[in-house]
Amino acid sequence: MVLSAGCGGFLSDPTPTPEQTESAPETIERTSTADPTPEVADASRQRFQFEDSPFRKERVIVGINDTVNYGNFTSAASDALSYWNKYGSTYGRYDAHFVLQPNATNPDIELRRSKQVNCPKERQIGCSPTPAEETVFNGSSNHTAFVDNTTVIVRIESSSETNWRMDRNNVIHEMGHMLGLNHYNYPIWVMAPPGKGIKHSVKDVSETSYPWRDPELKVYVDTSNVSKSEQSQVVNSTQEVIEYYNSGAEDTRIKELNLELTDSQYKADIIINPGANASDIYPKGRSVDRDANLEYLVKVVINVGAEDTDRSYDLIGRMMAYLTRPGSPPPEFKQVTVGTKQG
Ligand SMILES: [Zn+2]
Repeated sequence: MVLSAGCGGFLSDPTPTPEQTESAPETIERTSTADPTPEVADASRQRFQFEDSPFRKERVIVGINDTVNYGNFTSAASDALSYWNKYGSTYGRYDAHFVLQPNATNPDIELRRSKQVNCPKERQIGCSPTPAEETVFNGSSNHTAFVDNTTVIVRIESSSETNWRMDRNNVIHEMGHMLGLNHYNYPIWVMAPPGKGIKHSVKDVSETSYPWRDPELKVYVDTSNVSKSEQSQVVNSTQEVIEYYNSGAEDTRIKELNLELTDSQYKADIIINPGANASDIYPKGRSVDRDANLEYLVKVVINVGAEDTDRSYDLIGRMMAYLTRPGSPPPEFKQVTVGTKQG
């Protein structure tokens, strides 16, 4: 890497960006429900053509080095790069088109997913260099923390508790840094660090008409703890609940909502766990403002207590109400009660 004369930039102090765990709260002002980018970009931001970007080229090759061996990370990464190829010109400081080549031998950027990222700051779940105006990623610097030969390393922490959405958002965040964005730039829903971001408050999950960042949600039923007959009971209940919500839940839900069963726990946004000790719901999400409440969801576990299998339709339906419009159960499930825990 080369620094222009006089620039102390990030290279002398490669401030990698602090990510905490997804379980801390975070959200965004939504102008419309389920729009992944409902924010206005900062019109005053400085923008550069690709000739002046840190990569000095338009097509930036992104490789993958994945040692976690859980879930289809390539697919999550591909979704993240697609996000920037669509919205980079709106928010990014440089022109760049990311091209995913998972096995590239000498990519411009390597997405390195591992169980422990060893980022410079504690509790980070990802880190990468944020290029300053004069930064050029050309491999000629001895700052090895984030550069291997000519490849910029973007570190992503992940485990079997991490789902595709958390990985995707983490990659979107770090790749946002690659486009020159910092934690106070738009899109704040993904660039602000959890719980420490912008000062103005953003609507909490309980105040929104839809608490996810997009309308497509995958549902996984974990049948490992229950008998065959209980399995089919819960799977059937889940399927019926899904149909009810996909059809609008008596016009109480956003039209775009689309729930779908998946057989991949990694792909799942919602995990239904029958045979648990008690019926509860454990939402994970983020907060981009400075309050303690979740502002959007990234993963939710629904526990159906062993003694509640017989009424799993009612319980899952009620908990799905929280997941698709908190605080407002549709008529079908208005009378049903369940415990709620935040996790
Ligand atoms: Zn960051």
